[in-house]
Amino acid sequence: MYPVLHIYPDKIKHNAKNLKKLCDKKDVKITGVTKVVSGNLDVAKAMVDAGITSLGDSRIQNIINMKKNDIDAEFMLLRIPMKSELELVVDYVDIVMVSELKTVEWLNDIAKEKNKVQDIIYMVDVGDLREGVWYENAVDEIICAQKYSNIFLKGIGTNLGCFGGVLPSIDNMNILLEIRNEIEEILNRKLEIISGGNTAALPLIENGTLPKGINHFRLGESIICGTDVTNDRIVPGNRQDTVILEAQIIELKEKPSVPMGEIGFDAFGRKPVFEDKGKRLKAILAIGEQDISPDGLIPLDNKIEVLHSSSDHTIVDLTDSDNIYNLGDTIQFKMSYGCLLKAITSKYVEKTIEK
Ligand SMILES: *Cc1c(COP(=O)(O)O)cnc(C)c1O
Repeated sequence: MYPVLHIYPDKIKHNAKNLKKLCDKKDVKITGVTKVVSGNLDVAKAMVDAGITSLGDSRIQNIINMKKNDIDAEFMLLRIPMKSELELVVDYVDIVMVSELKTVEWLNDIAKEKNKVQDIIYMVDVGDLREGVWYENAVDEIICAQKYSNIFLKGIGTNLGCFGGVLPSIDNMNILLEIRNEIEEILNRKLEIISGGNTAALPLIENGTLPKGINHFRLGESIICGTDVTNDRIVPGNRQDTVILEAQIIELKEKPSVPMGEIGFDAFGRKPVFEDKGKRLKAILAIGEQDISPDGLIPLDNKIEVLHSSSDHTIVDLTDSDNIYNLGDTIQFKMSYGCLLKAITSKYVEKTIEK
């Protein structure tokens, strides 16, 4: 039954291999990030087949599922953990990102009980204003995280481009490296992982400006979607047709382009705007805001225009298309990162693996 997401692991593997080659040249290790496909096992396997030995996800449920299904990798929890999931973290997560000393203390207590040592990466905020200790206080706080018997400070990291949209730069990477230097001096040992970022940081590798010493990237969007939304570009050498959404036409009629009557707000409190193009051939697809974001739908037939969605309906304008569509036909789309995230998460969207 439609809608269907067609997932192409071989294309994702191609993308992963391409980025591994790029990162290998600069001695940057990759953690492949599976969260945009909810830790889909075939996608995880594709990354591992491409030679990636570390996988990361923001949801512990996805990590547990991958582990239980024998995905052969080291697992990193990317979202700083909730108190209520720490027990699972110690049981299932190889490396967890943290930004609170209290969390480290709780983790230590649990790890001690279980006779384990929990590896952590302490996050530093170098300007994007999402997770991490503010860089000015980083050294003092991170040194404290080191004093627990069952915690091992494996490295430090930063995340950019996600909340503030701050672009990774030589300057903000150097802030992280200065903090590394101070910590290494105080601890009198090397930190293994200096995690410089996500997809948004790839241009620094491509143009050869990534400061030496940043040795780890966490890559999701660039591998799975082949895009880099923060820098508004596609990733050189990577494919964007890795996941295709197919939805079915449930109504096909000519209708005016402007609604009739006084315009209030739509189902989501938005005020729609309309351009009068006369009568248009329009299709209603059986998919909606519950499953996608209409802004993120990119029709493979590029003469189709996506107009609007409500919870369960999406309306597209077929007038300019060179193809003939009938009731019951389907329309295919590529998707933005955000749209794919919704589609993968919707239980109403079937997922199929295409060989
Ligand atoms: C999602 C996430 C990533 C991956 O980001 P992409 O832009 O998809 O490459 C990396 N690090 C953290 C902390 C994340 O939450």
